[in-house]
Amino acid sequence: MPGTLCLTFDDLFVDNWCAARPVFQMHDAKVTFCVSHLHEATKSQIHGLHQLQDDGHEIGFHTRTHPRLGAYLQRHGLDHWLRHEIDEGIAEHRNLGLPARSFACPFHGSTTETRKALANRFDVIRTDGPRSVDPLNPGKRIYVAQPKDKCFANLGFADAQHKAFPGWAHQVRLLDLIAETGGKAVFVGHDIRPKKAGPGFYSTQKQLGRLLSAARDRDITLAPLKASGPWPRTAAS
Ligand SMILES: [Zn+2]
Repeated sequence: MPGTLCLTFDDLFVDNWCAARPVFQMHDAKVTFCVSHLHEATKSQIHGLHQLQDDGHEIGFHTRTHPRLGAYLQRHGLDHWLRHEIDEGIAEHRNLGLPARSFACPFHGSTTETRKALANRFDVIRTDGPRSVDPLNPGKRIYVAQPKDKCFANLGFADAQHKAFPGWAHQVRLLDLIAETGGKAVFVGHDIRPKKAGPGFYSTQKQLGRLLSAARDRDITLAPLKASGPWPRTAAS
């Protein structure tokens, strides 16, 4: 039961994501792109998102303008956030034929209240970042049943150039753990650059290929957040 890896790529790096289409195709990988700032997207970026969707990838949602949650809630409150950052953005996505069924929390921020409100709107919610994984129990973030609150915390990084990327030996251990557990795990990434080019949160196409190929070597399915059933085991409570 080799498990499922959901790779997610955030924000609006559409041109570079599209340039990486052959890498995904080569490894039969389907992923989720979690998009913010769609209202500022160019025609060509919107075309790119439709192309990615037509390839079988999922276009998820990542708020409208990517604010920091704590400061926003303090200043404007939950209802304002839901109206302007969530519901307006969902409408913009759906007006362009994008489903907005999965949600990724910007800066990995959420509260009990936001998670509850998001669960009423989305099928899948990606919550905490990989830096808060319990090193003694990373397997807690491999899900063998659909969580009741629909929330999945990130297990790992899809950004090999991220300053917190813990290295390939660790990456391989996580993949082995997914394959042994047979559940579903989520990795967070951002940009995918053709080559190494300075700082930023990204993988190069070559680094992405390395991750995809290591997952395929273990027979791990590379699937989007949303379309990732059936669950391998019955729910462990
Ligand atoms: Zn983001």
